[in-house]
Amino acid sequence: MRVSIFGTGYVGLVTGTCLAEVGHDVVCVDVDAGKIERLRQGVIPIYEPGLEPMVKANHAAGRLEFTTDGAHAVAHGEVVFIAVGTPPDEDGSADLQYVLEVARTIGEHMERPAIVVDKSTVPVGTAGRVSEAISSVLAGRGVDIAFDVVSNPEFLKEGAAVEDCMRPDRIVLGVDSAAAADKLKRLYAPFNRNHDRFVIMDVRSAELTKYAANAMLATKISFMNEISNIAERMGADVEMVRKGIGSDPRIGWHFIYPGAGYGGSCLPKDVQALARTAQQHGHQPLLLHAVEAVNERQKGHLHALIQRHYGDGGIAGKTFAVWGLAFKPDTDDMREASSRRLLAQLWESGARVRAYDPEATEEARRVFGEREDLVFCGSANEALDGADALVVVTEWKQFRSADLAQLRAQLADAVVFDGRNIYRPEDAEDAGLAYYGIGRGRSV
Ligand code: NAD
Repeated sequence: MRVSIFGTGYVGLVTGTCLAEVGHDVVCVDVDAGKIERLRQGVIPIYEPGLEPMVKANHAAGRLEFTTDGAHAVAHGEVVFIAVGTPPDEDGSADLQYVLEVARTIGEHMERPAIVVDKSTVPVGTAGRVSEAISSVLAGRGVDIAFDVVSNPEFLKEGAAVEDCMRPDRIVLGVDSAAAADKLKRLYAPFNRNHDRFVIMDVRSAELTKYAANAMLATKISFMNEISNIAERMGADVEMVRKGIGSDPRIGWHFIYPGAGYGGSCLPKDVQALARTAQQHGHQPLLLHAVEAVNERQKGHLHALIQRHYGDGGIAGKTFAVWGLAFKPDTDDMREASSRRLLAQLWESGARVRAYDPEATEEARRVFGEREDLVFCGSANEALDGADALVVVTEWKQFRSADLAQLRAQLADAVVFDGRNIYRPEDAEDAGLAYYGIGRGRSV
């Protein structure tokens, strides 16, 4: 099938590549000419496990084309995806300017019937606005061409995006017409061989499904962070509590890790946008507000632990090794990452930072710029050179088996702040380290 995808970011590039991998003929279009040029040369703008060889192979095979030419993309696609960003507006609602811009581009260049698929995360009612935008441009051109707008929210996880795309848990299709549903079922059939993953529904429910999923995930994290704060004050260990509750199948093991707060390009903005949409429809989303408030507080928690250890004014002049900058492991994405809050607070307190992240250093350079109180290091070990303390912010696998005796020898103040509870307090203490985890009451 001939497919075009507007937006070549995490979602657009991965979706386009996976569709090409199963034999579709895909054109990826982006307004960022530099990104398109790099992609043509085989330089992948993001880090995503497994993506690079797939992009190169499908590009070389002629099934995956990169262009800035919107007219060409519209002419190519029987199915045209919108996968551009929907960042938060000033009031927290989703900014739809990029989505609607693409809709207008589609309207300008459409010459025959097509299915327009909204893959960006957008508030309920957006498919209607996309449809109106396309119709109004078509009317301006004096032409009448049939088209469908389908909501097909994306559930991939950064860090496992290719795997999620090739083996999705579910494929949600919000459709108004049976013909559009059939066409998309054929498009996605190669990903649906093992068992039926299609969940077909009306457009508005599909749009809300994506927000509900992310709000639920954020709620689980904030809930666990709330419990961790209670545990810390009560002399209980939240890791024990986690094991105790995760074994209940009604609760489950996933997404109940306490930590340094959730970040990334999706959870913070989607919880905010859902709360905003709810308010616009006359509903006060009390739970969503609490989820956000708990997360905001949690992002400052590592710094609070550091302050507790060093006392008032004790942080100034100290050097902190920081392991992990990305908002989670296996990605280079630093949008809303907890590390950003921590580093800002450390600098505010007069500290210096030696940072290491396996993949996000380049992105971090762009985010933080050059500063004399920040040194980017080439390895976890190098970050420890001349450091007084270690802070673990992102739980990359390579940090999990650190040599604690070596940490004791290298860190001048022999203290570890473990923002992801990857070490056992007793092991750290046996090695002669002061240890602070999240919600580990026995250590405070
Ligand atoms: P991104 O910022 O990585 O990429 C968006 C791309 O769209 C950019 O390359 C930008 O240049 C391009 N773009 C903007 N306007 C354009 C236009 N008019 N024509 C063509 N290209 C244009 O965004 P992302 O992370 O891929 O997210 C895209 C959407 O998918 C968002 O709505 C997001 O909420 C949703 N989503 C993201 C994830 C994720 O993990 N990143 C997961 C599920 C859903």
